[in-house]
Amino acid sequence: MARTPILAGNWKMHGTIAEAKDLASGLAARVGSRSDRGVVLAPPCTALATVREAVAGTRIVVAAQNMSWADKGAFTGEVSPVMLADLGVGHVILGHSERREIFGETDEVVRKKVEAALKHGFTSIVCVGETLAERDAGRTLEVVKRQVDAALNGLGNDAGSKIVVAYEPVWAIGTGRVATREQAQEVHGEIRGLLRDLGLPADAIAILYGGSVKPDNVDGLMAEPDIDGALVGGASLEVESFTRIVEYRA
Ligand code: PEP
Repeated sequence: MARTPILAGNWKMHGTIAEAKDLASGLAARVGSRSDRGVVLAPPCTALATVREAVAGTRIVVAAQNMSWADKGAFTGEVSPVMLADLGVGHVILGHSERREIFGETDEVVRKKVEAALKHGFTSIVCVGETLAERDAGRTLEVVKRQVDAALNGLGNDAGSKIVVAYEPVWAIGTGRVATREQAQEVHGEIRGLLRDLGLPADAIAILYGGSVKPDNVDGLMAEPDIDGALVGGASLEVESFTRIVEYRA
């Protein structure tokens, strides 16, 4: 089954509102009308409204980088799905390794967030990936399967259209050390098999690779059969480099 490729930029904690507006407007002009690939921008929370405005009328989708599993209440510092929906945001990155490693998000918390996202009709980009120590110990597939299972087990076939998976080996994020296309393909293939085992429409779910994706390595990665797109950090912060990534040639 043909899956629409997705190129998603995770801007992390970078940029003022003015800088976000410039970047989003530049990308809107360059790749905003592409209908053959999904383009997703995930700016910091403070710039969500501005970026949404900057890409209005284009096909670019705006995503949050995180969200609370609760609708409202005494959760200082959190942003709820209701608030994001109020901003017109319908996509969210969940379980990024920086959330897991720095802010202590467990598999259970990621699961609660996936359920909250589904309840509110969001599309979730669910991130999984092993650390270097886990890879060196030969535990990559075990770790990734545990994370995928915890996040998605039992959701039911209908949830499939609202799920994107991002395989992001932690050792490749922000390090300049990209997984080889063979390493990435191996894990992507395993993830697709697991999605099938979980009763999800595996052939329709996009599985993105993330970890030091750049203009000079995206083409090779995208040529692999189970790599359906990229979640990009550093190289998504400039119009030129992210445009080249969106315009990959496989
Ligand atoms: C990310 O933030 O998800 C990421 C993959 O970052 P980078 O592309 O900078 O490695």
